[in-house]
Amino acid sequence: MDTRLSPRFDKDSDAREAQELLRSCVHCGFCTATCPTYQLLGDELDGPRGRIYLIRQMLENGKTSDSSREHLDRCLLCRACETTCPSGVEYSRLLHIGRGLSARLLPLPPGQRILRAGLRSVLPYPKRLRALLGLAYLLRPVLPGRLRRKIPGHRAGKEPARASHPRKVLLFQGCVQSAASPNINAATRRVLDRLGIECLKVAGERCCGAVHHHLDADEKARRLARHNIDLWLPLLREGAETLLLTASACVLEVRDYPLLFADDPVYRRKALELLPYCQEIGTFLNRQDIEGIQLAAPVSMAFHAPCTLQHGLRAERDTTELLSRLGFDLRQPADSHLCCGSAGTYSILQPTLADQLGKDKLEKLRDTGAEVIASANIGCLLHLQERTAQPVRHWIEWLDEFLPPWAGSESNRDGAG
Ligand code: SF4
Ligand code: SF4
Repeated sequence: MDTRLSPRFDKDSDAREAQELLRSCVHCGFCTATCPTYQLLGDELDGPRGRIYLIRQMLENGKTSDSSREHLDRCLLCRACETTCPSGVEYSRLLHIGRGLSARLLPLPPGQRILRAGLRSVLPYPKRLRALLGLAYLLRPVLPGRLRRKIPGHRAGKEPARASHPRKVLLFQGCVQSAASPNINAATRRVLDRLGIECLKVAGERCCGAVHHHLDADEKARRLARHNIDLWLPLLREGAETLLLTASACVLEVRDYPLLFADDPVYRRKALELLPYCQEIGTFLNRQDIEGIQLAAPVSMAFHAPCTLQHGLRAERDTTELLSRLGFDLRQPADSHLCCGSAGTYSILQPTLADQLGKDKLEKLRDTGAEVIASANIGCLLHLQERTAQPVRHWIEWLDEFLPPWAGSESNRDGAG
């Protein structure tokens, strides 16, 4: 698709990049069929091809409108269209640029700016989020049902005793996850302990930057990324095997660091050095000898593969293969390619569409008749859990729960749990 840039964008590197990205789209429309927002709303402009046209129009005319912005904002950035596209269009990058340019041409209304600033100032900071959650637990009895359902059930889980092993990995703590569901990292430490792998916590680590990146605050995302890279790389160079992450959205963000640093050669080089170390927990465990973590009896599991895992990282098969190898009777829900509606902060910014997608996903997961429901990203877990009394957990937590009792590597222990 050829695009003639408006003179307004002549010297704009983002606009030029978007112009290049647009070239690979042949307007075939295959992507439309797998787009969740198109399926819900039935409007071409709420599908990938329509949004691509809107971005092209903006680049050519040098202006946009409230209605165009609304269509761009309704995109989940789930990347299902990228999986479907036969021409390899990098839609997510294009949309990210399109939203940034649109915000520059037509500033957001004050209410939206305040809401986004509020999300950016709370979600990436576990201490602030914990304080807010603490207040929410106190007020829970008097809150309206809609808000009450948004408060996650707190499952801190028992921390494993510190066990020292020659094999060491850096376990990323995450921001929302460490505050809202700390049991996920505790379960990971317990499971890896059985395999003789020690999880190291990196002091001073901060949010991966995904929240800021998705809310068009790239400079702040870069600051967080630089901070983390400078903490992680020396430890990896000193011998830690890998940087392990249990939330697929964080893995995708770290893997996108080289793109984030396109104009910063020093940190781009560091981000590229980090890349081979950065591993999603399912991919990492599927490459290990897992004899020590087999279920005693099969448990049926309905698994929702987060979009960041299946469309972003294209690593869904690693996890599904692993779950079967561990002894789970894995059941795929119908329309498993569709987003659950969580999509980072989408569930807060677009609550109606997110709610519909969440309900649809849960119905499909329940239809499998499986004993337990699992996913692999904190956002999806919280979004689905909000809509059902049935527990929805990270698969590593279910694995930890169903593993037969284990005495532990007592000789290695140097502390109580
Ligand atoms: S499938 Fe790819 S090439 Fe076809 S319209 Fe969609 S983005 Fe463009
Ligand atoms: S990223 Fe998802 S919601 Fe956005 S256009 Fe592509 S398929 Fe549709």
